[in-house]
Amino acid sequence: MIKTITTLALWALAAWLLGSWFEPTTGWIVFTFGLLTMIIVSAIQLHQISRWVKNIESPPPPSVGPWDDVLAVIYRKLKRDRSQIEQLQHNLEGMMLAAEALPDGAITLNAQMEVTWCNKVAVEHTGLNLATDRGFSIFNILRTPEFGAYARQREWDKPLLLHLNHHGHERALLVQLSPYGADQFLVVTRDVTQVETLERTRKDFVANVSHELRTPLTVLAGFLETLHDLPEESLSKEQREQYHQLMMQQARHMQAIVDDLLTLSTLESSPSLAGEPVQISQLVEKAMQQARLLSKGQHVFVENIDPDLCVKGIASELISAITNLLTNAVRYTPKDGTITVSWYSTESGSAIYSVQDTGIGIASQDIPRLTERFYRVDRGRSRATGGTGLGLAITKHVAMRHNGELSIRSRLGAGSLFCLEFPPERVCKA
Ligand code: ADP
Repeated sequence: MIKTITTLALWALAAWLLGSWFEPTTGWIVFTFGLLTMIIVSAIQLHQISRWVKNIESPPPPSVGPWDDVLAVIYRKLKRDRSQIEQLQHNLEGMMLAAEALPDGAITLNAQMEVTWCNKVAVEHTGLNLATDRGFSIFNILRTPEFGAYARQREWDKPLLLHLNHHGHERALLVQLSPYGADQFLVVTRDVTQVETLERTRKDFVANVSHELRTPLTVLAGFLETLHDLPEESLSKEQREQYHQLMMQQARHMQAIVDDLLTLSTLESSPSLAGEPVQISQLVEKAMQQARLLSKGQHVFVENIDPDLCVKGIASELISAITNLLTNAVRYTPKDGTITVSWYSTESGSAIYSVQDTGIGIASQDIPRLTERFYRVDRGRSRATGGTGLGLAITKHVAMRHNGELSIRSRLGAGSLFCLEFPPERVCKA
C-alpha cells in the first residue's frame, strides 16, 4: 500500500513539475495518464488475484504489486492450516480404522440413544445397517425386553447377556453400555457363542461321564450289598461264581471308560508330533488278532494290505484307531457277515486304511454325530458288546493329530465303510 501511495505521490510531483515548467495542461495530461495506468494495472492484479482465489491450493500469482506481501502471508497461513487439517484427517482415519479393527462390536449413540455410528463387527452381531438405521433408536435395533430394561437403568457396572437370532443364526452376545463425552453412549458387543457352547459341552460331558459310570457302579454296589446281606450258606458256589463274574464285568466296563477318557484327554492335551515311520501292516495284524478273538469265528475276514506302506506318526495312537474301527465292525456285524480291511495308497499320494462291513449300518441322521463323545445309536447294543461310546471320538482325534481325516459312509441294514485317510506328507515306504 505504501509503495502505491509513494508511486502516486511521485507521479503527482512529476506532473506538477512538468506543469510548472511547461504548461499546466501538460502536467494534468501526464497525471491523468499515470492515474489511468495505475487503475489498469490494479484491475489486472485484481483479476489475477480473483483467479487465484478460485484455485487457492496453488501458490499465489508471482507479481501482483502491492498485494504480493499480503498474499504471501495468507498463503503461508493457508498452507499451515491445510497441513494441520491433513494431520487431523490422518489421525481420524487411523482412529476409524482402529475402531473397525476391534474384535468387538462398537455402536455410538447420542443423548436420545439414537445410533450415530457402528463398526463392521457390530453390524455382524446385531444386523444393524448404518445406511438405513443411522438416527434410529437403539431400542428399535436391540428389541429384546432385557436390553430395554438394561439400557434404561442408566448405570451399567456389568454387561448383559443377550441371545439374538439374526437371519436364523443364534448368537450369544455380551452387551456393555457406557457413557462417554457429553451425553453420548457407547455399546460394546462381544460374541460369546463359542464360550457358551464350550461351557455347555463341558457340562454335558460331566453329566455323561457321571451317567456312564453310575450304571455299572449301581450294579456293582447292588451285588456287594446282596452278598453282604445274605447269609453265606444261602448261596451256592455256582451262584457266588456268577455274581463274581457279573461284578468283574461291571468293573471292567468302568475301567474301559476311564482308560478311554484318559486316552482322549492325553490326545487333546499333548502336542501333535511328527513321529516315526510306522509299519501299518504290523499294527493291522495285531488288531486282526483282537478282532478274530472278539468274532469267535462268526465273521469272514478279507484283507487287502500293502505291506510296505508306512505312516509317519505315533504307533500307540495309530494302533488304537486301527483297532477301534476293526472291533466296531465285528461288534456291529451279525454272524456270517464279511469284514474287509484295506490299506492302500491313492493316486494323489495319500494312504487309506478302510474297514468295510456288511453289518447293521447307520441311519444318515446319526452319521455326523458318531464321533461325539458317548454318542451311540443303540446304547443297549453298544454296552452289551463292551462299548464305551468313546472309540470313534478317539479315532477322529488320532486322525486329526496325523493331519488325516476320518470319513464314514453307511446305509441302514446294508453295512458301513469307515476310512482313515493320511495326507501324502505323512506317507512313506518301508
Ligand atoms: P461304542 O463303544 O459305543 O462302539 P464308538 O465311538 O466306537 O462307541 O461308536 C459310536 C457308535 O457308532 C456306536 O455306538 C454305534 O452305534 C455306531 N457304530 C460304530 N461303528 C459301527 C459300525 N461298524 N456299524 C454300525 N454302527 C457303528
